[in-house]
Amino acid sequence: TRARRGHDAHAELRLGIGQAVAGGKRAFELSTAVACPSCGGAGTLDDDHVCPACAGLGSVRRRQTVEVTLPRAIQDGMKLRLRGLGDPDDDGGPAGDLYLTLVLESDDSYRRRGQDIEADLPLAPWEALEGGPVELHTLDGTATLNVPPNTVSGARLRMRGLGLEQDGRRGDFYAVVRLALPEPLSERQKQLIQDMKGGTVRGGARKA
Ligand SMILES: [Zn+2]
Repeated sequence: TRARRGHDAHAELRLGIGQAVAGGKRAFELSTAVACPSCGGAGTLDDDHVCPACAGLGSVRRRQTVEVTLPRAIQDGMKLRLRGLGDPDDDGGPAGDLYLTLVLESDDSYRRRGQDIEADLPLAPWEALEGGPVELHTLDGTATLNVPPNTVSGARLRMRGLGLEQDGRRGDFYAVVRLALPEPLSERQKQLIQDMKGGTVRGGARKA
């Protein structure tokens, strides 16, 4: 038999995909399910009545701030076990553990599309024109994408298997090309852009 210790607690940790990619140690405020202190998790009191404190659920929620060191290669639905961050034991034994279920969501840089991840890929016009390898931050670390020559703004370039895992299958990662210019531009670059003038730009909300 196991030594007496406090109950384990469970919580969902919602994480921006960008945070998961960056990793490191962070503080999170969580809503944690812990054993109800009134009935000890049974859901009923000694007289067999439903426990009023938890309405018979056996657990109550509490706010808790925890420091989490994010592991490498985080996946959606991954469970982390934080030793000793569950309930304290009433009889002075060790505390229970806290189990976190990671849920990855969209943020400023990465968008979740079901099992797929989508992110903007800014390219200088000459990079889009010439094509070539570009390095990206993904859940699997640095990945190299080969941009084909003559790529246009808005193109969705797929990296197979670098999306989210579901039922043992990985989704894909889509890099959405956005033409961008380096900052600051040199006077010569500004002049070259002036020299490029000609033709008509169309699309989006722009009136033709
Ligand atoms: Zn209760």
